[in-house]
Amino acid sequence: MPMVTTQRADMSFCPGCSHGIVLEQIGAALERMGLQPEQVCLVSDIGCIGIADRYFSCHTFHGLHGRSLTYAEGIKRVRPDLMVIVLIGDGGCGIGTAHLVHSARRGVGIKVLVCNNFNFGMTGGQHSPTTPPHGCTATTPDGVVDSPFDVCQTVMVNGASHVARCSAHDRTCGEVIEAALRSPGFALVDLWELCVAYYVPTNKLSPPALVELSERLELPFGLLRSIPRPAAETEPCPTVERDPAAASGASEQGRSITWRGRTEICVAGSAGQRVRSAVGVIGEILVAGGVFTAQHDDFPITVRKGHSISNLVVSDVPIQYTGMDAPDVVVVLSEDGLRRLSGVSSLKPSCLVVAEGSLVLPPVSAEVRRFDLRTIGKVADKASAALVIVTAALVHGKWIEPHTLLAAAKQCVSGRYAQENLRAIEAGCRLQLSMDASSPMTVPD
Ligand code: SF4
Ligand SMILES: [Mg+2]
Repeated sequence: MPMVTTQRADMSFCPGCSHGIVLEQIGAALERMGLQPEQVCLVSDIGCIGIADRYFSCHTFHGLHGRSLTYAEGIKRVRPDLMVIVLIGDGGCGIGTAHLVHSARRGVGIKVLVCNNFNFGMTGGQHSPTTPPHGCTATTPDGVVDSPFDVCQTVMVNGASHVARCSAHDRTCGEVIEAALRSPGFALVDLWELCVAYYVPTNKLSPPALVELSERLELPFGLLRSIPRPAAETEPCPTVERDPAAASGASEQGRSITWRGRTEICVAGSAGQRVRSAVGVIGEILVAGGVFTAQHDDFPITVRKGHSISNLVVSDVPIQYTGMDAPDVVVVLSEDGLRRLSGVSSLKPSCLVVAEGSLVLPPVSAEVRRFDLRTIGKVADKASAALVIVTAALVHGKWIEPHTLLAAAKQCVSGRYAQENLRAIEAGCRLQLSMDASSPMTVPD
């Protein structure tokens, strides 16, 4: 599988934006290094570069403004075997400057790639800490008067072992990135880019002008430091539990749930249908029973309206790849969820699709079962419909025996909604899904 899954032209960046070039170079460098997607974790935060994770097949983590280094350092400390790459913009670097300083000081071997286009592109071209003097932006129409933030010197004086700066449009960009990825300690590359939507038009920037800018500001391109400082995480952290089975309280012998192989479950509905909670409850029960799970959610920034999708990977062995390539179970609760789902018509024939009775599905070769959302209230709390149906799908497909799921649920479900969730799981275990959309399910007494 390629590391970068999308052609540059199909990425959601403005045509001509440098971000796509950098992503291609990162992907190519990782492939030259022979790394597989499950050996890499890409961490991002805000800005246009923050959407980059969707174009990679590796592990990804998307977090809050300027905090990507904190997540990355945590991931690297727990999983020193992973190549952990931070993709951050100049805006994120400004917001998270303190993290930059202290990560460099601690020397954990994360690789920080700063996609520096001298402005906050996503929010309309406001000036950032790296905007050069005289740079005109939406917030500095007469030009910036401050000195630019020198990202490279900042991390160098704080102990970074590998530091470089280059233009994203230079033919050596890929080599510069690869050298940083190969260095053992904390590495940073300041990649100068073009934001064609905002910074370029008002400042007449171009690939050659980036070189002139570097000379004028005396912020040179090239390798600025490469010293052999071993990565801090090579000393194992004694407080970190490295055995996931032990961390979950389960051992091979002590498993209460037997799961065969890897199962990919996708639940698609609307905001307010408790889709993510339902998947979370099932995931927690399975983990408590000794099974490995990974949950991945998708919902719009509005949170309280639109789609809500939750993906759960379940496996009898530790999960290295958390992506979903060919779901085994797809539960569709609403039109919002159906609209958001891609590739429904190409689901594999062995996939079980469980869809609300009124939804019009495209032709599928997978097995389709139906349920009636309006009558869930007869068997459980209406608000728990998602949990009822996900349970019914797992039981119907024989991924788990109802008595095993119920027993595990009784052991581990807790908190404010414990009773409600248990009722929903009990109802789901009894629910008979139908093949007929006009007569969608039966509920035995
Ligand atoms: S706004 Fe700027 S940084 Fe964002 S995609 Fe467009 S060109 Fe790239
Ligand atoms: Mg920027």
